[in-house]
Amino acid sequence: MDRDRGAYRTAQLLKAGETAASIRAAARAGGLDDIGPGWWAVPTADRDVVAAVRAGGVLSCVSALKLYGLWIAPGYPGLHVRCSRHGEENGKRRCSPFGRQPPTRHAVDDLPTALACATKCMSDEDWIAAVDSALNQKLTTLEALQRAWPRIPRRVLNMLGKCDGRAQSGTETIVRLRLRALGFHVEVQKWIDNVGWVDLVVGRLVIECDSRGFHTSKEARTNDARRDRHTQIGNRIVVRIMYDEVLYCWPEVLADIRAFTDADRHRDRRRR
Ligand SMILES: [Zn+2]
Repeated sequence: MDRDRGAYRTAQLLKAGETAASIRAAARAGGLDDIGPGWWAVPTADRDVVAAVRAGGVLSCVSALKLYGLWIAPGYPGLHVRCSRHGEENGKRRCSPFGRQPPTRHAVDDLPTALACATKCMSDEDWIAAVDSALNQKLTTLEALQRAWPRIPRRVLNMLGKCDGRAQSGTETIVRLRLRALGFHVEVQKWIDNVGWVDLVVGRLVIECDSRGFHTSKEARTNDARRDRHTQIGNRIVVRIMYDEVLYCWPEVLADIRAFTDADRHRDRRRR
């Protein structure tokens, strides 16, 4: 993982063979920008990273997780910056991890530090979805995170216990978490003959979750979902759920799921 994104501490440049004179010369020639005490940026540096350093810290938390390509639920705007002082000013969040404060040697925090900060800025659901995404992309493992965090708060341990790197999308993570919290027995990424790999299975119900981005229009996608929310394949009902539905129509989606699972329970009881 590139933790510099074009912004460097003076110490890094010296270690790479630059000298104080060559740094000054590069700055005069426009090859390096002075972006804060002891920090320099090349012209192609990432703009958010430069903004974080200019704000007196390093890019961390949700902003670093976005940079690393994790699935992040919408609703976390602004720049998340980690520095020694807390608080919020100029629309930039001052984030800090649980446990010890690691040094800010690079302009972007490493994944464990960014995730540790994000426990404070994100909802439990959204944080677990971000971790699932990191695990699914093999950017880290649960063991590596636990090694990086010697003391883990109870809430975070509880969230880690619910993470599952098999999840193919944030939508899938959130549906899994919500159904399990309600007591449903949910199977993840199961092979079903004549259907293939499916996201989630609850009894006879197959739940396929939207893995697309947020690019298509909301109306079009919600219509899509209504049109083919239910399909019957053999003995199974396939239900498709879009992220917008999880966000805006969860009670309706849940009522549908309950309608199928309740009908199955009644049938099983009659059989007995
Ligand atoms: Zn934050």
